[in-house]
Amino acid sequence: MTNMTGQCLCGAVRVETHGEVTSTDACHCMMCRRQNAGGAFHGAHFSGDVAFKGDSLTWFASSDWGERGFCGRCGSTLAWRMKASPDNPAVAIGLFDDFKTPIQSHIFVDEGPSYTIIPDNAPHKTGAEVLAEFEASQKQDEQ
Ligand SMILES: [Zn+2]
Ligand SMILES: [Zn+2]
Repeated sequence: MTNMTGQCLCGAVRVETHGEVTSTDACHCMMCRRQNAGGAFHGAHFSGDVAFKGDSLTWFASSDWGERGFCGRCGSTLAWRMKASPDNPAVAIGLFDDFKTPIQSHIFVDEGPSYTIIPDNAPHKTGAEVLAEFEASQKQDEQ
């Protein structure tokens, strides 16, 4: 895949991604819902580097383990990343003009609000299922 570029609503922050899309998901957890003021956070991970440019890029520590990137000028949601792995953020796919990879899973569906119907086009995972998968992947990394 060629590099992709995207930007926030006002254009002050730009993102360039390298490599392939390795995963996409829509997170319906309470924190994502609050940040987006209603909807899920639709994010993608990439096999290569992700570079954000722009003075208004701001990172907010939303928990002990995670940070959320947004534009301090226009407020666009930009990314979510683990503090432990800042080089591998989930980039908000709405920043790109034409992002073609479908959402592969809906996560934290048990925290999803009742005012929206989560599409049935990809697996649904509860928060507990997501955390169990994450812990299993950490154990694999240790071996
Ligand atoms: Zn902006
Ligand atoms: Zn979330």
